[in-house]
Amino acid sequence: MLAAAGVAVTPTELARTAVAAAALAERLGCPAALKIVSPDIVHKSDAGGVRLGLASPAAVAAAFDEVMRAVRARQPTAHLEGVSVQPMAPPGGVEVIVGVSVDAQFGHVIMCGLGGVLVEVLRDVAFRLIPLQPRDAREMLTELHGLPLLRGVRGRPGVDLRAVEELLLRVSQLIAQRPDIRELDLNPVLAYPDRVLTVDARALVTVER
Ligand code: ADP
Ligand code: MG
Repeated sequence: MLAAAGVAVTPTELARTAVAAAALAERLGCPAALKIVSPDIVHKSDAGGVRLGLASPAAVAAAFDEVMRAVRARQPTAHLEGVSVQPMAPPGGVEVIVGVSVDAQFGHVIMCGLGGVLVEVLRDVAFRLIPLQPRDAREMLTELHGLPLLRGVRGRPGVDLRAVEELLLRVSQLIAQRPDIRELDLNPVLAYPDRVLTVDARALVTVER
């Protein structure tokens, strides 16, 4: 869905067995990331369901069994579909979070902030109404206290701010077309000097009955 909306996402495929996970790692390339896939698990890392930097298909196969066991021990009633396998994103990206939610008064709103630990500790985020105008996207970034981290500090290169703005606009467009999406979290989006790449996303969609 995100790829169709023009959002750059890491190739991600589902494996239901260790053998299938290893084959996917072979095809997608190592080092790989492996993540639990379950409709009952929202925070995969908290559930012991994420393994990063797996160097070989054999390591991916072993991690499949470890992750399934670890998650089952913590959440015995969760329905586990398998794992998703992705190539690791290049190092050095700045973690950004983009979120969408529905406000009781205003309807769909979009949020952007610095990701990882920073979003929980500093709550350094900016909000706007959807649909977003290009100017809104620009202003959201300038509102962030952590903007210097995106512009580059202490010899660290800055990230592609235009690409972050473009991402916000594409997410806004997606929501304008799909108002049944009640929540959307891209966390993290990795921002690099020349592009952005989303490595984790979660959507909550309303179903008409
Ligand atoms: P969750 O948010 O459900 O715990 P994530 O998919 O976000 O799971 O993975 C946890 C963290 O692992 C991310 O915030 C990111 O720092 C890192 N990560 C996840 N996938 C990749 C990837 N493909 N390449 C590099 N780092 C990744
Ligand atoms: Mg995440």
